[in-house]
Order: sequence, then C-alpha cells, then structure tokens
Amino acid sequence: MFTRIYLHIPFCRSKCPYCAFVSSQTQTVPADYTELLLAEMRLAAALPAQHTPLESIYFGGGTPSLLEPSSVATILAQAKDLFGLAANAEITLEANPGTVDAMRLAAFRKAGINRLSLGVQSLDDRLLKTLGRIHTARQALDAFSAARTAGFDNIGIDLIHALPGQSERMWQADLEQALRIAPEHLSVYGLSVEEGTPYADRYADNEELLPDQDLAAEMFELADEVLTTHGYEHYEIANYALPGRRSRHNSGYWHRDGYLGLGRGAHTFLRDTPYGTRCSNTPDPDEYRNEICNGALPWRDISILSSEDAMTEYMFLGLRMADGIGFNAFEQEFGVPLDQVYGETTRGFAQAGLLEITNHRVRLTRRGMLLSNQVFSKFLP
Ligand code: SF4
Repeated sequence: MFTRIYLHIPFCRSKCPYCAFVSSQTQTVPADYTELLLAEMRLAAALPAQHTPLESIYFGGGTPSLLEPSSVATILAQAKDLFGLAANAEITLEANPGTVDAMRLAAFRKAGINRLSLGVQSLDDRLLKTLGRIHTARQALDAFSAARTAGFDNIGIDLIHALPGQSERMWQADLEQALRIAPEHLSVYGLSVEEGTPYADRYADNEELLPDQDLAAEMFELADEVLTTHGYEHYEIANYALPGRRSRHNSGYWHRDGYLGLGRGAHTFLRDTPYGTRCSNTPDPDEYRNEICNGALPWRDISILSSEDAMTEYMFLGLRMADGIGFNAFEQEFGVPLDQVYGETTRGFAQAGLLEITNHRVRLTRRGMLLSNQVFSKFLP
C-alpha cells in the first residue's frame, strides 16, 4: 500500500562540497531520464501493492527544477492516470534559486506544482560561496518573489546554520531576512559534515573551523525562539510551518505512510507486509537504465520489516515530530503497550530532561530535540 510518490532527480549544475545526496553534475536533465521515470512508474503500477488516490507527490533531488516544466506535466498526468490523485493532493518541487526565473516558475505552477521548496540555504553571499552554491542571496530573494507572482501560495525555504565562519549574529540576520519574505514553511538544518564529501576532507582535521557545539546549540535555540515568536509552529526537529502549512509529504515519512520512490537512488516503503517493506533503487546510472529497459524495477536491499524493526522506526521517526508518540496509537499499531517495550528507556530520558511523558504521549523536550541522536540511538536494537 502506498499513498505518496517521491521522484528523485539526481542532477545538479554543480556539486556543493557539503552534499552527500545521489546526483551527477550536468547542465540539464538528460533527455531520456523522464522517459525512464515514466517507464519505471508503469512497471510499479503493475505491482500487486495497493494504492489509494495519491495524497502527495514530491520531486526531490538533486535539482528537480532542472526538469522541463513540460516533463513535470507529463509525469503528473501519467501518475494521475495510473494511481489517481486526491482532490487536494500536495505536489512539491524542490527548486534551486540559480535555476529558475519568472517564466519557468509560472510554467511549473501551470504544470500542476502547488508547493515550492526553495533551497535558499543562506542569505549571506559569503556563506553561500563557502557552501559552493550557484546562486547569490539576491537571486534567492528574486526567485521567491517570482514564485509568489507565479501564483505559489505555499513556499518553503531551507536554511543551514553552524556554517564555517558563521556567528550567531550572522544567523540572526539570515532568520530576520527570511521572516521578511514570510515563507509558509522553513526547514532549518545544522551543517553536518558527511563522510565522502569534500567538506569531510576539509574539516575532518580542522574541526575548529566550524562553530563549536555550544554555538551550534545556541543557533538552534535562536531559530526556535525567533520563528515560534513569529507564529511558526516548530512541528519537527528541523521544520517550522505556519498553521496548516506543515509538509504533508514529509509528515507522511515520519508517520510511516507507504510511498513509492521513483528515479535513480530513490527509496520506497510499501505497507504491503504486516510491518512494511523497504528498498532502494540502484544509484548506478547504467544499471538503472538497463534494468528499466528490460522491464525490471531496479530495486536493491529489499527488507521485509519485523515487528521489532518497525517499532524501532516508529520510535525514532515519531519522536522527530513535536507531537511525539501517542500511547494509544502505538498499542493499536503493535498490540502491546509502549511502556512495556520502552518504559525503562523513556523514563530514563524523562529524568534526564530529554523526553516529556504525559498521560497520553511521549515527546522530545526542546533539549531533547537538540540531543535527538543520543535519544534515538537508545531505541536501536
Ligand atoms: S544543489 Fe542540492 S542536491 Fe545538488 S549538490 Fe547542491 S545541495 Fe546537493
């Protein structure tokens, strides 16, 4: 069973040195990639997995805004034909501000995109340069205002803090500028240096070039304070939304809704077995192309989850949300009270001030959100 589709567009104009996502460097999306996505979608439609009309479709990357708007329209039309589309489905496109202009944004809107996720990252040109981004702060602000003119009334922006050379004051300036344009949604991440990226080489032996943990924590708290004061709901560790504007697609991940992942390197989660099945598409371009052309889904690492796997996921995905986990919902899902399985762990974290336990639910405290990895690791088998 799945109710959502994720399409991975693994192409970028240039590779940002901090990024570990699957993507290749190119100026435009290769002509055959859309055809492969369409063919993969048809193969997936023949699966016995059931589906209801799709609640959300998400074009992620990479840089989905490198797609031609006409390709987006074709993909959406086929998805609607094959699976049906709920009347109020959320359809998101991630856009790099360096790849869009007023005309392209209007064409994406016309193609059926109703939510834009703009990869702003910073509104400070020096930091954008450090991040290796292809756009300036001005271009990001212009892209935002062009998106509004094109009719987008649901726009999220991404910002990163704890950057090399960034002070708390610079972070505050970024937040204040972001508030001035009033996006419906903000994703706010602390920089994490991922293995295998140029940043890992640059900073592994020079950690002192990055803000220390205390400063990174102060930046997290500053974002929480500034954004919640301005009416944004801190609904997930890294995500803030105006009322009614949470990302429905991403909320589906945290609630363990089934989704079909299409495209090179995409992940899929089907609610077809009692506790679900996860798999991922090959990230290799030749394998991906050849298998689809031969009529096979390019799935790898197929894992049928046990109840223990699913409980672990349920805990660390559910605790990401500010609402936390309801005791009744857990028991309904697994037929056993949460306290019976995790009581000792949750009470320990409550005593340490990282979890809050009420009569009905358990959730991270603000300090728990800061130290969430420490909490999540205790739920692993
Ligand atoms: S544009 Fe996005 S996906 Fe592409 S390299 Fe940069 S951060 Fe990664």
